[in-house]
Amino acid sequence: MPRTWLEVSLDRIALNYRMIQRTAGSGIETMPVVKADAYRHGATAVSQVLEREGAKWLAVSNIEEGKALRDAGIRTRILVMADRVDSDANAWSQARLTPVIHDLREIATLHPDVSYHLKIDSGMARLGTNESAETIIAAVRGTRIEGLMTHYASSANFESEQTKSQQQYFEGIRLALEEAGIRPHYLHQASTNPLHFGLRQSWGNLARPGYAIYGFVSRPQGKAPTELLDVVPALSWKAKILLTKEIPAGAPVGYGAQFVADKPMKIGILGVGYADGLPHRLGNRGQVIAAGKYARILGAVSMDVTTVDLTGTPQLNAGDSVTLLGSEGEVSIDARQMAREAGTIAYSILCGISTRVPRHYV
Ligand SMILES: *Cc1c(COP(=O)(O)O)cnc(C)c1O
Repeated sequence: MPRTWLEVSLDRIALNYRMIQRTAGSGIETMPVVKADAYRHGATAVSQVLEREGAKWLAVSNIEEGKALRDAGIRTRILVMADRVDSDANAWSQARLTPVIHDLREIATLHPDVSYHLKIDSGMARLGTNESAETIIAAVRGTRIEGLMTHYASSANFESEQTKSQQQYFEGIRLALEEAGIRPHYLHQASTNPLHFGLRQSWGNLARPGYAIYGFVSRPQGKAPTELLDVVPALSWKAKILLTKEIPAGAPVGYGAQFVADKPMKIGILGVGYADGLPHRLGNRGQVIAAGKYARILGAVSMDVTTVDLTGTPQLNAGDSVTLLGSEGEVSIDARQMAREAGTIAYSILCGISTRVPRHYV
């Protein structure tokens, strides 16, 4: 057994997908987002399950991710959301990937048989075009524009007007296109948050959840109108105890002596560190689950090892394992909790788990 590993439940991914599809309802297709190696859950295995569950579309960030799925035999449509068309001219027809266009000048460089989705920057100044409706109409007329999409900056923040203003901007562009006789088959705006918080006017007919597929939703800021998705994390992260020892009161622990034992203690040295993706910021503040109880991280998280307090769990020994993410009995830690303690976001915790950590499907 390795010193640290991930356990991913593909059944759970399938259940989360079904829950989302049921919530979206008929008339809306779910396009699970499997970019960044499916938020570290494993893009190939996750995509295979989702294809089996009936997903007609998957979304990735770049051409390499799309081609890897084709090489693994995935046959769904694949939307490439954050690359340039000219990065690899063969990707679109040969690998049958579908580009998202962010820059109207890219349209002319596409083979005329390739369908594309156009992203509108509706007010977050990130990807997507912010050209006027007239300019967009002139650029897309007579081309295979299959989808029109945008993305929201503040869709979990109900104290902000930004979502409403982005919705209005997008609707303005959509209407101008419609009046010019341009009606893309797909309209899509919803990642996890707009789905979860029931922002139905932005659902269109294609939904793009990533986070919820893996069992997470954001906490709303302010008063959310509703919360619809009851999804459950699919990933657990474990580490082996390499060594246990007793230390006396006054013993300094780890780099910089950032923790000093205030009493005689039993400590465990775990085979996981920041090179595995455990945030360095968890030093002296994070916790793990040891024998079904919370156990504090003591001192600095090192590159390869992390020390925890096992004073309350005398039965644990070298060779036993603890849980960094997941649950043991009633006690659980999910990526959101770890993120709060590390001063980051759960997305970054998940994507930050290093490829050094092997993955098992359970
Ligand atoms: C990553 C991404 C998503 C998925 O977002 P989640 O919050 O993980 O659901 C949807 N759309 C775009 C454009 C993205 O980049």
